[in-house]
Amino acid sequence: MKRKAASQSSFEDQAARKRIDTLLSLSGAAYCAGEQKLSTRYVLLARKIAMRHRLKIGVAAFCKHCNQVFCEQGKTHKVRVVAGKAYRVCGSCGKRRMVGKAKVVKKA
Ligand SMILES: [Zn+2]
Repeated sequence: MKRKAASQSSFEDQAARKRIDTLLSLSGAAYCAGEQKLSTRYVLLARKIAMRHRLKIGVAAFCKHCNQVFCEQGKTHKVRVVAGKAYRVCGSCGKRRMVGKAKVVKKA
């Protein structure tokens, strides 16, 4: 099967994008309602749909390692600055990821 180009967007991809957005918003609402397992399940389903349709989800929305949704700073995640770089630390598994893209330093 031929791989599709990243720029192509079909009707199916648009429907998948809607489902992903819905699932991510539902996961935030479920976390606020105290249903942590349900919220991680919603994030997992959204990631599976994104993988099937080769779509991107913003990494700021959830933890890649444990599918914890990042809806409330201080409870679900913390932001720490180490050596001038900002990191997002997951509240449940403790993994940290850099906020934004890493700057490439060019050697002269
Ligand atoms: Zn995590």
